[in-house]
Amino acid sequence: MARLCFDYGHGGNDPGAVYKGRKEADDVLSLGRAVAAVLRRHGVIIDETRTADVSVSLKARCDFENKGSFDYFISFHRNAFKPETAAGVETYTYLNPGAKSKGLAEKIQSSLVGVGFANRGVKTANYQVLRETKAPAVLIEIGFIDNSQDNALFYAKRDEIIKAVAGAILSQLGLAYIEESQNGLEEALEVLVRNGILKSPEYWLENARPGKTIKGEYAGLLIERMAEYISSQQH
Ligand SMILES: [Zn+2]
Repeated sequence: MARLCFDYGHGGNDPGAVYKGRKEADDVLSLGRAVAAVLRRHGVIIDETRTADVSVSLKARCDFENKGSFDYFISFHRNAFKPETAAGVETYTYLNPGAKSKGLAEKIQSSLVGVGFANRGVKTANYQVLRETKAPAVLIEIGFIDNSQDNALFYAKRDEIIKAVAGAILSQLGLAYIEESQNGLEEALEVLVRNGILKSPEYWLENARPGKTIKGEYAGLLIERMAEYISSQQH
């Protein structure tokens, strides 16, 4: 099972870059946590250096990572320069990166460029969170927070960006991206119908929903049939 350390830059009394009411600390917390949720859905374990708008020093972030045993450390940031002058994404590794961090950085960079950001390339930097972490480490700068076009992309294409970063990480882990099923119940009921456990799924489709109720005798019968089926598969 892959285990990653996610680091959302800044937070608390350090907002990171700010522009027109936006704070880097908020942007990267929200986006990073959404990427973490997608990866957890794929069975990847994610530990996070912060999960709220709180101050965490660079040393505390590195210490947190050093206490664990992670396959990768990924730090989420947004860039800033002079307002409305620079644009695009860049992904950093520490100086002289190993194959793992370089491979991950290249995958993340190209997937974000695929969403529409300008390609500023994979770069190296002597950043503390890259230098003093044990796991292969990358730091992503997801567009410039002081560039209106980058912000338009960042907010309008949020779902695509989440999928791009999650997909790149999964690919580096050798895992395939699986779309989230919009019709999980329908698909599950089809499986039961195909295997003769249920005759018609309509009652369940309508009533096995939040706020609705299933009759006890129906639920009991379904459980019995499922148990029978599982037993029959085991013999
Ligand atoms: Zn930052």
